[in-house]
Amino acid sequence: MTEMPRNFSLADMDREALFHPATSIADHLKNGPLILSDAHGARIKDQTGRVLVDLGAGLWCVNVGYGRTEIAEAAAKAITDLSFYHLFGSSSNESAIRLADRVLSLLREKAGARHLSKVFFGTSGSDANDTNYKLVRYYNNLRGKPQKKKVISRLGGYHGTTLASASMTGIPAYHVAFDLPVEGVFHTSCPHYFRFGHEGESEEAFTERLINEIKDLIRREGAETIAAFIAEPVIGSGGVCLPPVGYFARLQPILAENDILFIADEVITGFGRLGSWFGTAHFDLKPDIVTLAKGLTSAYFPVSASVISEEIWAVLEAASPQYGPVMHGSTYAGHPVGAAIGLVNLDIIERERLVENAAELGPYMLARLTERVGDHPYVGNVRGTGLMLGVEFVADKKTKRAFAAKTGPQRVVAKNAIAEGVLVRGLPYIDVNAFSPPLSITRDEIDEGVERYARALELSTPA
Ligand code: PLP
Repeated sequence: MTEMPRNFSLADMDREALFHPATSIADHLKNGPLILSDAHGARIKDQTGRVLVDLGAGLWCVNVGYGRTEIAEAAAKAITDLSFYHLFGSSSNESAIRLADRVLSLLREKAGARHLSKVFFGTSGSDANDTNYKLVRYYNNLRGKPQKKKVISRLGGYHGTTLASASMTGIPAYHVAFDLPVEGVFHTSCPHYFRFGHEGESEEAFTERLINEIKDLIRREGAETIAAFIAEPVIGSGGVCLPPVGYFARLQPILAENDILFIADEVITGFGRLGSWFGTAHFDLKPDIVTLAKGLTSAYFPVSASVISEEIWAVLEAASPQYGPVMHGSTYAGHPVGAAIGLVNLDIIERERLVENAAELGPYMLARLTERVGDHPYVGNVRGTGLMLGVEFVADKKTKRAFAAKTGPQRVVAKNAIAEGVLVRGLPYIDVNAFSPPLSITRDEIDEGVERYARALELSTPA
């Protein structure tokens, strides 16, 4: 090993040794890294000692806030009791069993999803969506429909970065030079009325146009070749895009009529983000598969889940004697420590009424943001539901013209926001800063965070 110079800092070591996900190497070498430590509640410290208000909850995931000793204690106990065992070949553990049962109970009680039947654990939203992609193929092969394999997702949709989930992701930046999407994945229009509605087109007419486009796509490809449609209840990384009026109500019967499975990607919206337990309840969805991650453990441990319907399970169960074991899964799936953490995390969400807090403080935060930045000449739209909010930039407020592709106002503001003591995300598809604070955030913290963000926006704007 070469010896490092004495003044070699942790930041130097980072640039020397770490390959960061979703990061511009050129930018990182010039400006990175932002090294974070000591975090508590909605606050987190950087390497300069500055305490930042994290209005992003990491990556939309630290729902109960940082630094919960109750979770640390549960993790320590779980490690002491059973540090690991896998779920392969019928092995099981108490925490994984209880977490699966708890997730199903929550989906049934809070989202009326009584048709959901089994939980398959993974370790990231990406691998859970990969599981879903494989499962719909498996399911159709098992029920004698080997032609039915194509998947429809939406432009602006984000479903992860594995080969299959990145293909379903409808953000071109994730495809460049990776030879993605893979064959058989189709992207239909982004359901974001503010940016993609035509001039003079009503929101209802926008929905109608998008639904017709989906019908045409199904007709053109043939329903007998299409296995699934995947959608986030509210698009996250693609720009905090709320579905236009009537969108899911129109879409779901079309999918059902054409025997196309509906996958609700609730990786962000699950466990309270929208001020209701699940997007499935929020938008009256009846998904065949639900993807969960992030809020399931508030990111204290990497745990994800694919929850499948009784209908899918029945096919798998009936074919089992013929097909043998379902040869899918990974070492850490159903990890006893992660599952124990998931259980205590859900206890906290319920006990502290964090979903209710998101329902109450979401509209407050939206009003504060609108008041502080809504009139800014480059802010075209402030929107959101629950504690999932976005500020969208425009180059011209009247015409809603977007900035030139490489301008990236959302990135400029997000960078300046750090200097002002607040963390927000600049998103990669349209020019949006996203806000998704811990669901435990207080009014005062919202005020402080929004004020700091507003200052960063002013500083970012040429006079
Ligand atoms: N699906 C959605 C809706 C997401 O927002 C994300 C991550 O942000 C993913 C899937 C992928 O999850 P992960 O980053 O854990 O792989």
